[in-house]
Amino acid sequence: MNYQHVIDGKKSAHTVGKVVCVGRNYAAHARELNNPIPDQPVLFIKPSTALASVQAPIAIPPHMGACHFEIELAILIGKPLSRGCCESQAEQALAGVGLALDLTLRDLQQQLKESGLPWEKAKAFDGACPLSEFVGIESVNNIQDLDIRLSQNGELRQQGNTGQMLMPVLALLVYTTQFFSLQPGDVLLTGTPSGVGPLRSGDQLELSLSKLLRATTTVR
Ligand code: ZN
Repeated sequence: MNYQHVIDGKKSAHTVGKVVCVGRNYAAHARELNNPIPDQPVLFIKPSTALASVQAPIAIPPHMGACHFEIELAILIGKPLSRGCCESQAEQALAGVGLALDLTLRDLQQQLKESGLPWEKAKAFDGACPLSEFVGIESVNNIQDLDIRLSQNGELRQQGNTGQMLMPVLALLVYTTQFFSLQPGDVLLTGTPSGVGPLRSGDQLELSLSKLLRATTTVR
C-alpha cells in the first residue's frame, strides 16, 4: 500500500491507521435504505488497507453486485484519544478535514444484514475508502456547517450539510473512544447524506466540501 495522508499539500508525518466509520448519521440516508434511525451510533472499521487516494481511478470489485458511493466528511486525527476523553480534548485532536467515499457492496451488505452477519466484506475490502487530501483544521470555521456534494457524470447525487448529523463530530469522537482508542493518523468517517447510488465503469465523480476542497475521480 502506498497511500499516505496529505494535509495542506504536504505529506502527513502520521502513520496511516484505521478508519472508524459511523452508519446512519443522517436521518434522510437512514430512511432511503429503510433503516431505523438508531438510538446509539452504528460503528464499524475499515483497515488501513482499504485506503486509497481518491484521485486514483476507482476499481469496482468484480462479480460482487452493486458498489455504492457514499460521500462523507472525513476527520484526520492528530493526537491520541482514549476512553474517558471529553469534547474539548476531542477538539484538540482534530488535525484536518477531508472527503471520503465509503464504498459499499450494497447487495452483499444486504445479504449479510439479512443473515445477521457483520458487514466487513461489504465495507472494508481493499480500496473501499478513497480519501481526498485534508485541509488543516485552522482553515475550518465551523465543522458543523460544511456543505458536502457529490456529482456523478455532471448530475448532483448527494448534497448535505454537516449540521444535519444526528451526532456531531466531537460527540462522535467521545462516543467512539468508549470502544476504540484513536491514534494520530486514524480517520473518522461521519456518515453520508441521502442520495447514495451505484458506481458504473467510466463514471466521472466530482466531490466538494464547501469552498475548502474539490476533487475529481473516475471509475475504471
Ligand atoms: Zn457510510
